[in-house]
Amino acid sequence: MKSFKTPFFFVVLFAIALFAKAQSAEQVTKAYEIFENKPEVYLSFDASEMKEILNFYLSYDYQKEDRIFVYANKSAFELLLNMQIDFKVERSPGDIDFDPNMKTWEEILAKGNEKSWDFYPTYSGYVNMMYQFQTDYTNLVKIYNIGETVLGRDLLYAKITSNVNQQKAVPKFMYSSTMHGDEATGFVLMLRLIDYLASNYGTNPDITFLLDNLEIYICPNENPDGTYTNNDNTVSGATRSNANGVDLNRNYPNPVSQHSVRQPETIAMMSFTDTISFIMSANIHGGIELINYPWDSWTSGVKKHADHNWFILVSREYADTAQYYSPSGYMTAYGGVTHGGDWYVVYGSRQDYFTYYKYDREVTIEISDTKMVPGAQLPAYWDYNYRSFLNYMRQSLYGVKGLVKNAITLDPVVAKVEVLSHDAFNSEVYTGEMFGDYYRPLLAGTYSFKFSAPGYYDQTISNVSVTNYNTTQLDVMLVPEGTEFEVTIIVDPVASGTVTGAGVYDLGSPVTITASPNGDFVFQGWFLDGSLVNSQSEYTFNMPMENLEFTAKFSEEIAPETYNLTLLVNPAGTGTANGGGTYEEGEEVFVSATPIAGYVFVNWTIGSNIESTLREFQFTMPGSDVTMTANFELINNAAILLSEKLEIYPNPSNGEYFVSADNEIIEVIIYNIIGKVVYSQIINDVESRINLTGVDAGVYFMKIVLDSNVIVKKIQKL
Ligand SMILES: [Zn+2]
Repeated sequence: MKSFKTPFFFVVLFAIALFAKAQSAEQVTKAYEIFENKPEVYLSFDASEMKEILNFYLSYDYQKEDRIFVYANKSAFELLLNMQIDFKVERSPGDIDFDPNMKTWEEILAKGNEKSWDFYPTYSGYVNMMYQFQTDYTNLVKIYNIGETVLGRDLLYAKITSNVNQQKAVPKFMYSSTMHGDEATGFVLMLRLIDYLASNYGTNPDITFLLDNLEIYICPNENPDGTYTNNDNTVSGATRSNANGVDLNRNYPNPVSQHSVRQPETIAMMSFTDTISFIMSANIHGGIELINYPWDSWTSGVKKHADHNWFILVSREYADTAQYYSPSGYMTAYGGVTHGGDWYVVYGSRQDYFTYYKYDREVTIEISDTKMVPGAQLPAYWDYNYRSFLNYMRQSLYGVKGLVKNAITLDPVVAKVEVLSHDAFNSEVYTGEMFGDYYRPLLAGTYSFKFSAPGYYDQTISNVSVTNYNTTQLDVMLVPEGTEFEVTIIVDPVASGTVTGAGVYDLGSPVTITASPNGDFVFQGWFLDGSLVNSQSEYTFNMPMENLEFTAKFSEEIAPETYNLTLLVNPAGTGTANGGGTYEEGEEVFVSATPIAGYVFVNWTIGSNIESTLREFQFTMPGSDVTMTANFELINNAAILLSEKLEIYPNPSNGEYFVSADNEIIEVIIYNIIGKVVYSQIINDVESRINLTGVDAGVYFMKIVLDSNVIVKKIQKL
């Protein structure tokens, strides 16, 4: 990235020194004197002079009325000179005017000071305290030296968990502090937290639970060069930046803008945490009192994290608890909780690095308005915050968690765990390599989870229900691609039937299994794990992602008695009769008769009895086999019983016909020449008027159903 070459700036400097106002020259001299001993100066200038480009070089601290207070390293300072911005050198927040109450390791040990927590340790006091935790709690605390600072100081992490030397399938959580070296309140509070967790294990049930169910990593000081800028024995004079004058909270990879050269402190932090997937973390700062949640790189109007509302929940819980246990006014800046970018956008923050690149959820805890409080005030800040420290850690246990394994070998699988229609912009999580475990903090709701891994079939699980402050367990077996699955079939009872379809199938391929009973047995159905899945003797399904062991059950129960309904056509070939088959007694059977062209339907008969004169009717099956005949007649030869007096007039007609008979006419039906009904009417009278005006001209057959006879007459429509 851009850097400014020193020779160029010397030229500029001389120009400014020659022409600048007397006050500016004095300020320039003062700043250069500070640079003799420190990598940064603390300045203020008029807010109207602030330019976008300065954001990349200066570390903005805060604005008071129309003055902006910033930290500037030498390059940034010379840029200000070049831009002719009129500045004032201010007293740096690390230049304290009180005794910070420093304790050496000998003093800490000798006076039992380690439990008073009202002091700042010297650098060697700090390092010794860390290793002493490991000595005192061998089973609970392990110290990692993750690398050196610019000036060769140690960057230390404490890992705190039960059975600290064993690998456990539990979420990993991180606290760290004081990446801005002069924001030292959190430094001491983190040392105290390590002690509090370790010393309360086994006696305090809440702490025992946390250490049994979490791996907690705490780095009390990410920038000891900044904290001990003056010398190893005092925090007075601490600087925000590291020894190279770089603001470490602008130094991490960033999805929007990557600006400065990566520093040893940043590289050490990134390489150590590359081996650990943190579920949640928090980074402690000072200078204001609030919780700041992602993103820092965008305002919430531009981009919200997928878990924006969850971040508000956990941030509010932190701030509300701290407010409750502190004097009024504590942790109330911006209401106590703010979206990072809505406060002010920065690029390269650690919060966005862990949240975006490491699939973590990190917030920033701004713990005290005064960056470096007197030692005597440190216990009060502990009291305001320690419950919130514990609550926030506990949140990493809530939401959805589980194990993802290979369905065949049961080995853990490194899988992507995605919340569908929710996750975006790296908010998904991944399972751990050693156990296949995953943890997904989530706000209450119902979600669909998708599990995917190279070489495995995806698996989606819907309707996963989450409630706040609870954990939903969701374990998944992923099936390797190309895996075949087996269908086995057990016949129950043995030899009661024969089955087909057992064998090996590809996932999703169609499988047909059949069962046929032997002897007096009847097929009951297909059962899986004792539950009926299908009762058809032939069952087709697509092979699922598991082996299936069906039981084909047969029974000796007698099937319900059925009877045959045989339908005949008389004369043979003059029509069709539908509805014949096998039926149980009392079953309603719909039967229908259709004549071929030139024939008309007469009636249904069983033996010599007329069953119905209706062409279609519901027949009630008796408890015996039945043969029923559909009778048809040739239209032209339709029998007319001469004894019946029957008149149809006029014939031919334009459409109106009068029909009269001696006896009651039950029904009149008129067919066209291909046997299709064009008119039908129930009459129940000795005469009737029939209207065929809507019917095409032509020859028709009028069937008159009498009480004792059926007569068919040809009529003509003009
Ligand atoms: Zn800070």
